[in-house]
Amino acid sequence: MFQTPSTYLDLPEAFWQRQQAEPVRDPDMLLWNEALAKELAIERLPDAVWGGSETPEAADPFAQAYAGHQFGHFTMLGDGRALVLGEHVAPDGRRVDLQLKGSGQTPFSRRGDGRAALEPMLREYLISEALHALGIPSTRSLAVVSTGEPVYREEVLPGAVLTRVAASHIRVGTFEFAAQSGEEYLQALLDYSIQRHAPEAAEAADPALAFLRSCLQKQAKLIADWMGVGFVHGVMNTDNMALSGESIDFGPCAFMDRYDPATVFSSIDSQGRYAYGNQPRMAHWNLAVLASALLPLVQGDAEAEATAVLNEFPQAFQSAWRQKLAAKLGVLDPTPEDDELLQGFLDTLHTEKLDFTRAFLDLESDPPDVLQDWMQAWSRRVDSPDAARERMRLVNPVVIPRNHQVEAALHAAGEGKMKPFHELLAALQQPFDPALLQSPFAEAPAAGTPKAVTFCGT
Ligand code: AMP
Ligand code: MG
Repeated sequence: MFQTPSTYLDLPEAFWQRQQAEPVRDPDMLLWNEALAKELAIERLPDAVWGGSETPEAADPFAQAYAGHQFGHFTMLGDGRALVLGEHVAPDGRRVDLQLKGSGQTPFSRRGDGRAALEPMLREYLISEALHALGIPSTRSLAVVSTGEPVYREEVLPGAVLTRVAASHIRVGTFEFAAQSGEEYLQALLDYSIQRHAPEAAEAADPALAFLRSCLQKQAKLIADWMGVGFVHGVMNTDNMALSGESIDFGPCAFMDRYDPATVFSSIDSQGRYAYGNQPRMAHWNLAVLASALLPLVQGDAEAEATAVLNEFPQAFQSAWRQKLAAKLGVLDPTPEDDELLQGFLDTLHTEKLDFTRAFLDLESDPPDVLQDWMQAWSRRVDSPDAARERMRLVNPVVIPRNHQVEAALHAAGEGKMKPFHELLAALQQPFDPALLQSPFAEAPAAGTPKAVTFCGT
């Protein structure tokens, strides 16, 4: 591990700051992702390393500089409580960042303490691993180490450090930072990002535009993936959109139970900016910020060229979403003519206040009366209802991270009882297993369960 110096350090110095983690009192491994470690051939170093108390000799850790639009407002940011410990090349050639989160203050901490509380780190572990198991690109969680130190929020909480594994941590906000710094910085970041995430763009007539298009396609697909499982990211600020196309930053995210496009969980999102059904529009908005950062590198009539690429987003998303919904409903080879049928299903869920995840499963076995009319149209469209149901079983999850179950598992963990967390995690790692249909983890919340409220920056 750390067999190569981090390639990120080849970027101009403005992009990073060498920084050691702040040692913690009593680093103790709570979770270690053995399957991920094996897959990537990552060695289980002592707990003190993953807790930030000890730096392996070959590592050269650094904090990354970036900016971002948070709820529409531009700010200079940077890793205020995280460090890239190093890059690692897996046996299959994939390069990943190993990042410690909660590792202490950095030059970017502003007024923050650089620390993370245990529950939000366990939450990130659970959700990122659940998304991965659902087949959705996501940063991963390798380890959670408790620090033996308190962190001070509105209350005193136990502290922890999470190790995040990511294809990179380049964000829309990294390009905003580069654009502020000047054209040579922008060019360096573009070249680096192309090499790491879109090598084919290097050969294009206009690499900046080709890179933008590649990011756009990844985001269109990612948002369709999210919406296909009812995922609400909750804080799609430009600093929280990774250009690798992986889901990142799980502060206030949550999964929708009853279908409603206006669903919001985050305590601070009072306008519904990042509501379930607004996510495509917000991804498009973020891509527009990326496009304007890239403008100096676009050839010809840069504004017109970049706008033309950006205008591809609605269709790219619509097409990805149509594919997703059609697959969830067992419909083969969907075309725009199917949109009415597909949307009709969602409209029924909305008016009848049905649970999103259960509705697809019930269609496979026991559809409610309110779906009868819709099912007649559906039966005429699919090759055979039985064949369609066979296909649906493979793509519709039985288990998603339900808020009431996540909260219960985290609450128990906060009291030192990890068993419920491990049981939930085990179910989330097999989300399509039909045997789980009978499990409590497949149950929608009881009527009258209050909607979850989630928080950022914890
Ligand atoms: P997030 O809401 O996690 O995307 O964080 C937004 C910004 O705030 C990032 O620059 C973080 O590094 C920074 N930040 C969040 N929490 C802390 C903290 N406890 N100490 C220092 N910086 C933080
Ligand atoms: Mg963030």
